[in-house]
Amino acid sequence: MNMLDELRQIESDGLLRRMRTLESAQDRIVKIDGREYISFCSNNYLGLCNHPRVKKAAIAAIEKYGVGAGASRLISGNFSLHNQLEKRIARFKGTESALVFPTGYMANVGTVSALVGPGDAIICDRLNHASIIDGARLSRAKLLVYRHTDSESLEEVLKQAAKYRTRLLITDSVFSMDGDVAQLDRVGELAEKYDATLMIDEAHAVGFLGNGGRGAVEHFGLNGKIPVVMGTLSKAIGSVGGYIAGSADLIEYLRNKSRSFIYTTALPPAACAAAIAAIDIIETTPALVENLKENSRYLRIRLAENNINTLNSTTQIIPIITGTPQSALDLSQKLYENGILTPAIRPPTVPRGTSRIRISLMAQHTKQDIDKLLEIVTTK
Ligand SMILES: *Cc1c(COP(=O)(O)O)cnc(C)c1O
Repeated sequence: MNMLDELRQIESDGLLRRMRTLESAQDRIVKIDGREYISFCSNNYLGLCNHPRVKKAAIAAIEKYGVGAGASRLISGNFSLHNQLEKRIARFKGTESALVFPTGYMANVGTVSALVGPGDAIICDRLNHASIIDGARLSRAKLLVYRHTDSESLEEVLKQAAKYRTRLLITDSVFSMDGDVAQLDRVGELAEKYDATLMIDEAHAVGFLGNGGRGAVEHFGLNGKIPVVMGTLSKAIGSVGGYIAGSADLIEYLRNKSRSFIYTTALPPAACAAAIAAIDIIETTPALVENLKENSRYLRIRLAENNINTLNSTTQIIPIITGTPQSALDLSQKLYENGILTPAIRPPTVPRGTSRIRISLMAQHTKQDIDKLLEIVTTK
């Protein structure tokens, strides 16, 4: 391993990553180096990271339970707030039961690697999230990949997978870098036809798709029909943590077999309290999801009028494709100089030739915010 050579190569390819540091809460307006920016790049789609009621719930939990859980859930780190949150998630997602992990990444890694092993097959959309791929590698099952949202390619791969002992078919419902949506009705039919267990990652669908922002499973009318539904508490829900929603048997199995659930400290009780408050707010304030949908529709229409390539986005995640890493960096820099924060997304996060600015909208963005973004993106 030669770290320095590799770093120099990454830098000369225009792919070196640096972090900016926020000096304010994660919100519509953020502060960096003493200056304010309109943020178009958080997953805090509904503004719940910094919502007064969510903060109040977390503070009350800290006063009562302290800051850390102090142990794994299975040793002594299981609090009533974990149980309450799991009941709340199951109700929100329309499943019998749910299990909370410290992050969404860990929910995917620990679930995929617990459900299948050597001799089984995992069937993935090419653009599935990295945490699913990492779980697949850890499982030592055979990883088979189909073309992005292409049901013909999926069917071919399912035929090839017939020779494996069992099949786990996994797809993101809303894709995190393209903002398009998997056709879950078709995917569900094919899973049934070829005897594959279906797992859906709802990380970016919750808060946008479905009745009351309950996600894509709800949107496609498939409640209770998808065996494994994964989601995160760290995006629209504004806190931190990941979950699996499904049958009581599935949850009991994961509690016993999922290593990223067993061998790690439980989610802090305050994060659970925040997530419960946030789900309550989503359910009682339909205007939040409606505003996010309206903002997304408005920006997509205006970009299309200007012939800007946004791939097949139909959600709050809207890519503006520039092509090369440098062109994405240049547009990001121009936006930054004009008070707008949205970093360049480059390989290996996205395929070569598709470097981009990835806009993610919030319910709280105003038309003026979006018009300002449009003005900078559309002027040469
Ligand atoms: C962000 C994300 C995850 C991981 O969730 P975290 O809670 O951030 O760890 C998993 N899947 C998808 C599709 C994601 O976008």
